[in-house]
Amino acid sequence: MSSRSDRACMICGIVQKFKDFVSNGCPNCDSLLAFTNDDTLVQDCTSPSFEGIVAICDSKNSWVAKWLRVDGFEDGLYAVKVKGRLPEDIIGDLASKGVVYRPRDGSVQE
Ligand SMILES: [Zn+2]
Repeated sequence: MSSRSDRACMICGIVQKFKDFVSNGCPNCDSLLAFTNDDTLVQDCTSPSFEGIVAICDSKNSWVAKWLRVDGFEDGLYAVKVKGRLPEDIIGDLASKGVVYRPRDGSVQE
């Protein structure tokens, strides 16, 4: 299901092809991160290393979506764990927009 060109968004965990992030951005985080046509940003904020892919459909009513904290996000494939961290300046940028970044690498337990 996954191939080398697949990457997971470090913010929402959605899995897409690298070129899709570059050409279409992230369906959930587009208002936060302008991925479109920015290879470097996609490189920095998505990860080629992730574990466990689940398909989310009907995310508003799915317990899996709640568990992954993606309820209300676009339908699609999501990674359960995403390795890597956003760059500090991006985290600061998100914070200034009132978004608290929670790493998806399993280091934060709730
Ligand atoms: Zn995203």
